[in-house]
Amino acid sequence: MDKIKSNFYWYKMSESVKSWIKQCSFCGGRKRPANTPKAPLQEYCVGYPLDRVVIDITGPFPLSESGNKYILVVMDSFTKFVEAYAILIKGRKQLLIRLCSSSS
Ligand SMILES: [Zn+2]
Repeated sequence: MDKIKSNFYWYKMSESVKSWIKQCSFCGGRKRPANTPKAPLQEYCVGYPLDRVVIDITGPFPLSESGNKYILVVMDSFTKFVEAYAILIKGRKQLLIRLCSSSS
């Protein structure tokens, strides 16, 4: 806009420039939609402990003394009991090893 303002002027210039940009099909096709559609939040029912367990991995964090970089968080949706484990790699194999070793 500043580049256009430095060289040109006409009545309602900024409005017509904005309108011109909005009508460009090439740019419109490449841009993301302003409001991405989201599903409404819903309530989900959990009947008993360990009926639904949710997991998430946070990080990367600075490397710990024991050589871990991520935190694996496991929560039981019914009791809200949370357990956190330090893991080295953010991957399925590491996640499975950590979950299996914690249950035994
Ligand atoms: Zn364009």
